[in-house]
Amino acid sequence: MKRILSVVTVLVMLFAFAAMASADDLMTPVPLTQDNQGSFIADTAVFGETGFTLADASQISFKLPQEYLLGETVLVHIKGSADGNFRVFLEKNGWDRASNIINMSEAVTGYESGAFDVYITFVVSDEEAKGVDLANEINFKGPTYDTNLVNLSLEVCEVFHGDTEAYKAAGGTACGVVGHTIAEYVSNGDATCTEDGTKTGVCSICGYEETVTDEGSALGHSFAEYVSNDDATCEDDGTETATCSVCGETDTRTVEGSALGHNYVDGVCANCGEAEPVEEEEPAPADDNAETPANADSSSSSSSSGSATTIIIVITAVVVVAIIAVAVVVLKKKKN
Ligand SMILES: [Zn+2]
Ligand SMILES: [Zn+2]
Ligand SMILES: [Zn+2]
Repeated sequence: MKRILSVVTVLVMLFAFAAMASADDLMTPVPLTQDNQGSFIADTAVFGETGFTLADASQISFKLPQEYLLGETVLVHIKGSADGNFRVFLEKNGWDRASNIINMSEAVTGYESGAFDVYITFVVSDEEAKGVDLANEINFKGPTYDTNLVNLSLEVCEVFHGDTEAYKAAGGTACGVVGHTIAEYVSNGDATCTEDGTKTGVCSICGYEETVTDEGSALGHSFAEYVSNDDATCEDDGTETATCSVCGETDTRTVEGSALGHNYVDGVCANCGEAEPVEEEEPAPADDNAETPANADSSSSSSSSGSATTIIIVITAVVVVAIIAVAVVVLKKKKN
Protein backbone atom coordinates (compact mmCIF):
# COMPACT_ATOMS: atom_id res chain seq x y z
CA MET A 1 0.00 0.00 0.00
CA LYS A 2 2.76 2.42 0.94
CA ARG A 3 4.58 1.54 -2.26
CA ILE A 4 1.45 2.33 -4.32
CA LEU A 5 1.05 5.66 -2.51
CA SER A 6 4.65 6.65 -3.16
CA VAL A 7 4.32 5.69 -6.83
CA VAL A 8 1.15 7.78 -7.09
CA THR A 9 2.89 10.69 -5.37
CA VAL A 10 5.80 10.52 -7.80
CA LEU A 11 3.41 10.35 -10.76
CA VAL A 12 1.48 13.38 -9.49
CA MET A 13 4.73 15.31 -9.05
CA LEU A 14 5.91 14.32 -12.52
CA PHE A 15 2.57 15.41 -13.95
CA ALA A 16 2.80 18.74 -12.11
CA PHE A 17 6.34 19.32 -13.40
CA ALA A 18 5.26 18.34 -16.91
CA ALA A 19 2.37 20.81 -16.71
CA MET A 20 4.69 23.59 -15.52
CA ALA A 21 7.19 22.74 -18.22
CA SER A 22 4.58 22.77 -20.97
CA ALA A 23 3.30 26.15 -19.72
CA ASP A 24 6.80 27.51 -20.08
CA ASP A 25 7.27 25.85 -23.45
CA LEU A 26 4.18 27.51 -24.89
CA MET A 27 5.37 31.02 -24.09
CA THR A 28 8.37 32.51 -25.88
CA PRO A 29 10.47 34.95 -23.85
CA VAL A 30 10.96 38.53 -25.01
CA PRO A 31 14.52 39.15 -23.83
CA LEU A 32 14.46 42.16 -21.51
CA THR A 33 18.03 43.09 -22.32
CA GLN A 34 19.80 46.21 -23.46
CA ASP A 35 20.52 44.59 -26.81
CA ASN A 36 16.90 43.58 -27.41
CA GLN A 37 15.51 47.07 -27.04
CA GLY A 38 13.34 48.19 -29.95
CA SER A 39 13.00 51.54 -31.63
CA PHE A 40 12.52 53.39 -28.34
CA ILE A 41 15.66 52.96 -26.29
CA ALA A 42 15.58 54.20 -22.71
CA ASP A 43 19.04 55.39 -21.75
CA THR A 44 18.18 55.45 -18.10
CA ALA A 45 17.00 51.83 -17.96
CA VAL A 46 19.04 49.68 -15.58
CA PHE A 47 19.31 46.07 -16.75
CA GLY A 48 19.89 43.21 -14.37
CA GLU A 49 19.84 39.42 -14.51
CA THR A 50 16.06 39.38 -14.68
CA GLY A 51 14.79 42.32 -16.65
CA PHE A 52 15.18 46.02 -16.06
CA THR A 53 14.10 48.97 -13.97
CA LEU A 54 13.25 52.33 -15.46
CA ALA A 55 12.93 55.21 -13.01
CA ASP A 56 11.49 57.88 -15.29
CA ALA A 57 11.03 57.82 -19.06
CA SER A 58 8.26 58.34 -21.56
CA GLN A 59 8.55 54.87 -23.07
CA ILE A 60 10.65 51.78 -23.77
CA SER A 61 10.20 49.07 -26.40
CA PHE A 62 11.56 45.56 -27.06
CA LYS A 63 11.79 43.40 -30.17
CA LEU A 64 9.28 40.56 -30.34
CA PRO A 65 10.66 37.05 -31.06
CA GLN A 66 8.86 37.02 -34.43
CA GLU A 67 6.65 39.15 -36.63
CA TYR A 68 2.88 38.83 -36.16
CA LEU A 69 0.65 39.61 -39.12
CA LEU A 70 -2.44 41.80 -39.33
CA GLY A 71 -5.39 40.15 -37.60
CA GLU A 72 -3.29 37.69 -35.64
CA THR A 73 -3.61 37.41 -31.88
CA VAL A 74 -0.73 37.58 -29.42
CA LEU A 75 -1.07 36.61 -25.77
CA VAL A 76 1.49 38.54 -23.69
CA HIS A 77 2.51 37.72 -20.14
CA ILE A 78 4.15 40.53 -18.16
CA LYS A 79 5.24 40.44 -14.56
CA GLY A 80 6.77 43.29 -12.61
CA SER A 81 5.83 46.45 -10.74
CA ALA A 82 5.37 50.17 -11.31
CA ASP A 83 4.52 53.33 -9.43
CA GLY A 84 1.31 54.14 -11.16
CA ASN A 85 -0.59 53.27 -14.28
CA PHE A 86 1.00 52.71 -17.72
CA ARG A 87 0.08 51.53 -21.22
CA VAL A 88 1.21 48.57 -23.33
CA PHE A 89 0.75 47.96 -27.06
CA LEU A 90 2.42 46.37 -30.08
CA GLU A 91 4.06 48.48 -32.76
CA LYS A 92 5.83 48.19 -36.08
CA ASN A 93 9.39 49.52 -36.14
CA GLY A 94 8.68 51.93 -33.31
CA TRP A 95 6.58 54.72 -34.81
CA ASP A 96 3.48 52.90 -35.97
CA ARG A 97 1.16 51.45 -33.39
CA ALA A 98 0.11 47.96 -34.45
CA SER A 99 -2.49 46.83 -31.94
CA ASN A 100 -5.08 47.82 -29.38
CA ILE A 101 -3.74 49.80 -26.39
CA ILE A 102 -3.96 48.11 -22.99
CA ASN A 103 -4.23 50.47 -20.05
CA MET A 104 -3.01 48.65 -16.92
CA SER A 105 -5.68 50.26 -14.77
CA GLU A 106 -8.21 48.51 -17.02
CA ALA A 107 -6.29 45.30 -17.74
CA VAL A 108 -5.85 44.56 -14.05
CA THR A 109 -8.98 45.19 -12.02
CA GLY A 110 -8.33 47.92 -9.49
CA TYR A 111 -4.68 48.39 -10.54
CA GLU A 112 -3.29 51.74 -9.45
CA SER A 113 0.31 50.92 -8.69
CA GLY A 114 2.53 48.14 -7.36
CA ALA A 115 3.07 44.56 -8.50
CA PHE A 116 1.34 43.03 -11.50
CA ASP A 117 1.41 39.57 -13.10
CA VAL A 118 -1.00 39.57 -15.98
CA TYR A 119 -1.79 38.00 -19.35
CA ILE A 120 -2.94 40.46 -21.99
CA THR A 121 -4.42 39.71 -25.41
CA PHE A 122 -3.40 41.88 -28.36
CA VAL A 123 -4.73 41.73 -31.92
CA VAL A 124 -2.45 43.06 -34.61
CA SER A 125 -4.34 45.93 -36.22
CA ASP A 126 -3.96 49.16 -38.14
CA GLU A 127 -6.11 51.32 -35.86
CA GLU A 128 -4.42 54.56 -36.89
CA ALA A 129 -4.74 53.76 -40.62
CA LYS A 130 -1.03 54.04 -41.31
CA GLY A 131 -0.91 50.98 -43.49
CA VAL A 132 0.45 48.76 -40.68
CA ASP A 133 0.64 45.14 -41.79
CA LEU A 134 2.57 43.53 -38.93
CA ALA A 135 3.81 43.94 -35.36
CA ASN A 136 7.43 43.35 -34.37
CA GLU A 137 7.88 45.28 -31.10
CA ILE A 138 6.15 45.70 -27.77
CA ASN A 139 6.01 49.17 -26.24
CA PHE A 140 5.58 50.27 -22.61
CA LYS A 141 4.51 53.89 -22.34
CA GLY A 142 3.38 56.43 -19.73
CA PRO A 143 -0.33 56.57 -18.88
CA THR A 144 -0.94 59.65 -21.08
CA TYR A 145 0.94 61.32 -23.94
CA ASP A 146 2.57 63.84 -21.59
CA THR A 147 3.16 61.65 -18.51
CA ASN A 148 6.00 59.19 -17.93
CA LEU A 149 6.57 55.67 -16.77
CA VAL A 150 7.55 55.81 -13.08
CA ASN A 151 9.76 53.10 -11.63
CA LEU A 152 8.65 50.47 -14.11
CA SER A 153 10.32 47.13 -13.40
CA LEU A 154 9.77 44.13 -15.65
CA GLU A 155 11.12 40.71 -14.74
CA VAL A 156 9.03 38.64 -17.18
CA CYS A 157 7.80 39.38 -20.69
CA GLU A 158 6.80 36.41 -22.83
CA VAL A 159 4.42 35.84 -25.72
CA PHE A 160 2.18 33.12 -27.16
CA HIS A 161 1.08 33.21 -30.78
CA GLY A 162 -2.68 32.87 -30.41
CA ASP A 163 -5.50 33.76 -28.05
CA THR A 164 -6.31 32.34 -24.62
CA GLU A 165 -8.49 29.56 -26.10
CA ALA A 166 -5.66 28.48 -28.40
CA TYR A 167 -3.32 28.60 -25.41
CA LYS A 168 -5.62 26.37 -23.35
CA ALA A 169 -6.16 24.03 -26.30
CA ALA A 170 -2.38 23.69 -26.61
CA GLY A 171 -2.28 22.51 -22.99
CA GLY A 172 -1.34 25.82 -21.39
CA THR A 173 -1.75 25.83 -17.63
CA ALA A 174 -0.60 29.34 -16.68
CA CYS A 175 -2.78 30.35 -13.76
CA GLY A 176 -3.18 33.85 -15.16
CA VAL A 177 -5.02 32.33 -18.13
CA VAL A 178 -6.72 29.15 -16.94
CA GLY A 179 -7.07 30.03 -13.26
CA HIS A 180 -5.33 28.37 -10.37
CA THR A 181 -5.37 24.59 -9.98
CA ILE A 182 -6.39 24.01 -6.39
CA ALA A 183 -7.49 20.45 -5.75
CA GLU A 184 -8.08 20.59 -2.02
CA TYR A 185 -8.86 23.15 0.65
CA VAL A 186 -7.97 22.58 4.29
CA SER A 187 -10.00 24.13 7.07
CA ASN A 188 -8.27 26.82 9.12
CA GLY A 189 -10.24 25.75 12.17
CA ASP A 190 -11.56 29.27 12.68
CA ALA A 191 -15.30 28.63 12.47
CA THR A 192 -17.29 29.98 15.42
CA CYS A 193 -20.69 28.97 16.75
CA THR A 194 -22.48 31.37 14.40
CA GLU A 195 -19.94 32.31 11.67
CA ASP A 196 -18.53 30.07 8.94
CA GLY A 197 -14.76 29.61 9.12
CA THR A 198 -12.25 29.75 6.29
CA LYS A 199 -10.32 27.14 4.34
CA THR A 200 -7.12 27.48 2.38
CA GLY A 201 -5.92 25.74 -0.76
CA VAL A 202 -2.58 25.83 -2.56
CA CYS A 203 -2.27 26.01 -6.34
CA SER A 204 -0.33 22.98 -7.55
CA ILE A 205 1.02 25.00 -10.48
CA CYS A 206 2.26 28.23 -8.90
CA GLY A 207 1.94 27.74 -5.15
CA TYR A 208 -0.59 30.55 -4.79
CA GLU A 209 -2.53 30.24 -1.56
CA GLU A 210 -6.22 30.98 -1.69
CA THR A 211 -8.34 31.37 1.42
CA VAL A 212 -12.10 31.24 1.02
CA THR A 213 -15.13 30.96 3.27
CA ASP A 214 -15.84 27.39 4.31
CA GLU A 215 -19.60 27.47 3.63
CA GLY A 216 -21.69 25.74 6.25
CA SER A 217 -18.83 25.27 8.69
CA ALA A 218 -20.37 27.31 11.53
CA LEU A 219 -20.33 25.01 14.55
CA GLY A 220 -23.68 25.88 16.12
CA HIS A 221 -23.88 26.48 19.86
CA SER A 222 -23.15 23.69 22.34
CA PHE A 223 -26.02 23.91 24.80
CA ALA A 224 -25.30 20.74 26.76
CA GLU A 225 -27.16 21.23 30.02
CA TYR A 226 -30.28 23.28 30.77
CA VAL A 227 -30.75 24.46 34.35
CA SER A 228 -34.17 25.45 35.71
CA ASN A 229 -34.64 29.12 36.52
CA ASP A 230 -37.15 28.16 39.28
CA ASP A 231 -39.60 30.66 37.86
CA ALA A 232 -42.65 28.45 37.34
CA THR A 233 -45.80 29.83 39.00
CA CYS A 234 -49.09 28.21 39.99
CA GLU A 235 -50.51 28.86 36.51
CA ASP A 236 -47.52 29.56 34.19
CA ASP A 237 -44.78 27.21 33.00
CA GLY A 238 -41.25 28.09 34.11
CA THR A 239 -38.06 28.41 32.04
CA GLU A 240 -34.65 26.79 31.91
CA THR A 241 -31.35 28.18 30.61
CA ALA A 242 -28.22 26.67 29.08
CA THR A 243 -24.85 28.35 28.44
CA CYS A 244 -22.85 27.53 25.29
CA SER A 245 -19.64 25.84 26.40
CA VAL A 246 -17.80 27.39 23.46
CA CYS A 247 -18.85 31.05 23.32
CA GLY A 248 -20.87 31.67 26.46
CA GLU A 249 -24.07 32.53 24.61
CA THR A 250 -27.17 31.61 26.64
CA ASP A 251 -30.40 30.01 25.52
CA THR A 252 -33.59 30.13 27.60
CA ARG A 253 -36.61 27.99 26.81
CA THR A 254 -39.99 27.22 28.37
CA VAL A 255 -40.38 23.95 30.24
CA GLU A 256 -43.78 22.75 29.05
CA GLY A 257 -46.04 21.49 31.82
CA SER A 258 -43.96 22.86 34.67
CA ALA A 259 -46.71 25.12 36.10
CA LEU A 260 -47.02 24.21 39.80
CA GLY A 261 -50.81 24.32 40.22
CA HIS A 262 -52.42 26.07 43.24
CA ASN A 263 -51.90 24.69 46.71
CA TYR A 264 -55.10 25.65 48.59
CA VAL A 265 -54.95 25.64 52.34
CA ASP A 266 -58.13 26.79 54.09
CA GLY A 267 -59.48 28.26 50.88
CA VAL A 268 -56.34 30.26 49.97
CA CYS A 269 -53.37 29.23 47.78
CA ALA A 270 -50.32 28.93 49.99
CA ASN A 271 -48.11 29.83 47.02
CA CYS A 272 -49.81 32.80 45.40
CA GLY A 273 -52.55 33.83 47.83
CA GLU A 274 -55.37 33.31 45.38
CA ALA A 275 -58.74 32.47 46.96
CA GLU A 276 -60.01 28.99 46.28
CA PRO A 277 -63.00 29.15 43.92
CA VAL A 278 -66.29 28.23 45.73
CA GLU A 279 -67.59 24.93 44.40
CA GLU A 280 -71.28 25.04 43.41
CA GLU A 281 -73.96 22.45 44.54
CA GLU A 282 -73.56 20.29 41.56
CA PRO A 283 -76.60 21.38 39.58
CA ALA A 284 -74.33 21.33 36.67
CA PRO A 285 -73.38 17.69 37.09
CA ALA A 286 -77.15 16.89 37.48
CA ASP A 287 -77.78 18.62 34.19
CA ASP A 288 -74.90 16.78 32.66
CA ASN A 289 -76.41 13.44 33.65
CA ALA A 290 -79.99 14.57 33.08
CA GLU A 291 -81.23 11.31 31.70
CA THR A 292 -80.26 8.91 34.47
CA PRO A 293 -81.75 10.79 37.45
CA ALA A 294 -84.87 11.70 35.45
CA ASN A 295 -85.35 8.07 34.58
CA ALA A 296 -84.79 7.08 38.16
CA ASP A 297 -87.38 9.65 39.29
CA SER A 298 -89.97 8.67 36.77
CA SER A 299 -89.50 4.96 37.43
CA SER A 300 -89.80 5.46 41.20
CA SER A 301 -92.85 7.73 40.83
CA SER A 302 -94.50 5.35 38.42
CA SER A 303 -93.86 2.47 40.78
CA SER A 304 -95.24 4.43 43.74
CA SER A 305 -98.27 5.54 41.74
CA GLY A 306 -98.63 1.93 40.67
CA SER A 307 -98.65 0.75 44.27
CA ALA A 308 -101.26 3.40 45.15
CA THR A 309 -103.48 2.09 42.39
CA THR A 310 -103.04 -1.40 43.79
CA ILE A 311 -104.10 -0.24 47.25
CA ILE A 312 -107.23 1.43 45.84
CA ILE A 313 -108.11 -1.72 43.94
CA VAL A 314 -107.60 -3.87 47.05
CA ILE A 315 -109.70 -1.54 49.21
CA THR A 316 -112.42 -1.42 46.56
CA ALA A 317 -112.39 -5.21 46.36
CA VAL A 318 -112.55 -5.53 50.15
CA VAL A 319 -115.46 -3.07 50.27
CA VAL A 320 -117.31 -4.88 47.46
CA VAL A 321 -116.77 -8.25 49.16
CA ALA A 322 -117.97 -6.81 52.50
CA ILE A 323 -121.09 -5.35 50.89
CA ILE A 324 -121.82 -8.66 49.20
CA ALA A 325 -121.24 -10.50 52.49
CA VAL A 326 -123.56 -8.15 54.35
CA ALA A 327 -126.18 -8.47 51.66
CA VAL A 328 -126.01 -12.27 51.79
CA VAL A 329 -126.36 -12.24 55.57
CA VAL A 330 -129.31 -9.88 55.41
CA LEU A 331 -131.06 -11.97 52.75
CA LYS A 332 -130.58 -15.22 54.82
CA LYS A 333 -132.10 -13.60 57.93
CA LYS A 334 -135.17 -12.46 55.90
CA LYS A 335 -135.72 -16.04 54.63
CA ASN A 336 -135.52 -17.41 58.14
ZN1 LIG B 1 -1.69 29.06 -9.63
ZN1 LIG C 1 -21.79 29.14 21.11
ZN1 LIG D 1 -51.52 29.54 43.54
